[in-house]
Amino acid sequence: MALDEIKISRAIIERYFQKLNNYLEMDVAIVGAGPSGLMAAYKLAREGFKVAVFERRMSIGGGIWGGGMMFNEVVVQEEGARLLREIGVRFEPWNDGEYYTADSVELACVLGARALQAGAKIFNLIMVEDVMVREGRVVGLVLNWTAVEGAGLHVDPLAVRAKYVVEATGHETAVLQVMQRKLGAKLATETGTIMGEKSMWAEVAESLTVDYTREVYPGVFVAGMAANATFGAYRMGPIFGGMLLSGERVASLIAERLRQG
Ligand SMILES: Cc1cc2nc3c(=O)[nH]c(=O)nc-3n(C[C@H](O)[C@H](O)[C@H](O)COP(=O)(O)OP(=O)(O)OC[C@H]3O[C@@H](n4cnc5c(N)ncnc54)[C@H](O)[C@@H]3O)c2cc1C
Repeated sequence: MALDEIKISRAIIERYFQKLNNYLEMDVAIVGAGPSGLMAAYKLAREGFKVAVFERRMSIGGGIWGGGMMFNEVVVQEEGARLLREIGVRFEPWNDGEYYTADSVELACVLGARALQAGAKIFNLIMVEDVMVREGRVVGLVLNWTAVEGAGLHVDPLAVRAKYVVEATGHETAVLQVMQRKLGAKLATETGTIMGEKSMWAEVAESLTVDYTREVYPGVFVAGMAANATFGAYRMGPIFGGMLLSGERVASLIAERLRQG
């Protein structure tokens, strides 16, 4: 069959807009396609919930690719290895199984693939610039193309509705920053504000990341490094188990809420 450029263009346009149109309303909108956001997407989609991830960059994976200081290996502990096994990322014990290591490129690729194949949709090149609110609850996200922001264009955004939002933008806490700035949102932290991340203490930080994975404002849960930064926890350095476990936890907390209706 002859290749027709217009048909090719039409196929892209039709399929993309079908996808976007179908995700104007969803159960869970995840902001950030790093390890915690992707793991949350995989777990929620596998449970049958309608979930989309919005990622500002062209590529997914967030900080996974760079491992530690650009050495593209990730380290996880036993609990993290359980999740690697579940998604099919190959890993090896290090120092008689004290830790486990995996190739960071494989982790980024496989985790993204699992999330998509489980039924999550990933919208890359789109940044979340604001939230939608109703009576003290976040009910959706305000989106624009990353390129619009980069070019400094004066273009109005579009909005999507979600029953729950996951703030998984890492250290930046981009969603909470905007909520703090525009809504004066009082968060469920000790100070009511984003407390800011502390210096490195891997052991404590890993468990705090999971503990602090919770609802921080009605309708908004934090996961991954965003949970650390929000609650003023220590940073953990280049160990990724906590990120994956935080994604798993946020998915289970939200799934429970969604089941309650
Ligand atoms: C400055 C810096 C310091 C780091 N320090 C540590 C450390 O101390 N400990 C550690 O373990 N790792 C650190 N890392 C590595 C890495 O970020 C994390 O380990 C891990 O990747 C965090 O996972 P995450 O899921 O929380 O989010 P990330 O992997 O950071 O992913 C967040 C994603 O959100 C996207 N995003 C951000 N804002 C928006 C928006 N408005 N709209 C849409 N998408 C958005 C980003 O593009 C990114 O892809 C650091 C990385 C950086 C850049």
